[in-house]
Amino acid sequence: MVRTRFAPSPNGPLHLGHAYAAVVAHDLAREQGGSFLLRIEDIDGERSRIEFVEEFILDLKWLGLAWDGEAVFQSARLDCYIKAGERLKAMGLLYPCHCTRAEIAAAANEAGPDGPVYPGTCRHRAVDPIGAAWRLDVAQAMEIAGPLEWVDALAGPQRASPQIFGDVVLLRKDLPASYHLAATLDDAADGITLVTRGMDLFPASHVHRLLQALLGLPVPVWHHHGLLIEADGRKLAKRRGSPSLADLRRAGADGRAIADTLRAHRFPAGISLSQVLHDAA
Ligand code: GLU
Repeated sequence: MVRTRFAPSPNGPLHLGHAYAAVVAHDLAREQGGSFLLRIEDIDGERSRIEFVEEFILDLKWLGLAWDGEAVFQSARLDCYIKAGERLKAMGLLYPCHCTRAEIAAAANEAGPDGPVYPGTCRHRAVDPIGAAWRLDVAQAMEIAGPLEWVDALAGPQRASPQIFGDVVLLRKDLPASYHLAATLDDAADGITLVTRGMDLFPASHVHRLLQALLGLPVPVWHHHGLLIEADGRKLAKRRGSPSLADLRRAGADGRAIADTLRAHRFPAGISLSQVLHDAA
């Protein structure tokens, strides 16, 4: 049975790009009589606000999207992240690192999906583990895991290439997980069979596939959808004036009509924001 999720981070309001992600996840489950979950990615307690969660719930209802069961909160799962981190440490696959972003940028020789690729500075150094971030030794992890494949429902079969990120941080300095570790563990804990999210997170799935192999987790299918764009072709951004769902809702826009317009454009690489607002008006 297909099981999808919408997993927003409550560090700002939802915009139409999030609405699109939620519609895709919701519809792909419902079309097959499957379930659709709401997961609040609030692991970062410093940046997360409960007020945003309250707004998310109103936004989703306004769009006409109902999820199954209670929303799941990452902040309630810290123990599970700590255990997985201990397990990876015991396998000898994590090492501590105190490098700052500026140091990494200065030392990097390549650019990866998230910017400068960490060049492995601390991999074989004696580093004080107190207050450190912990990185995955990707080459060693890949050697243990062997060749891995994963399937994107739109792009087809993929050979896992987590090395494009370099040695990613799995345990942040301030938190017992990073996005990669928390999202992978959550998708397994929630029984997600189809991970839907935007194309911008396509590269991250290479890392998630490796983590599944290392931790013996089930392997879902992925569906990375196109992103909503501004009329000028750029990604939506609040700072460029893209309206939040809460703004549209309070201004009296029809949420269900907006969800239907998004539905009508489900698979293209980019849909323009102005087109969505025009079509739904
Ligand atoms: N929390 C992420 C976001 O808001 C989504 C991550 C995911 O779907 O895996 O962009």
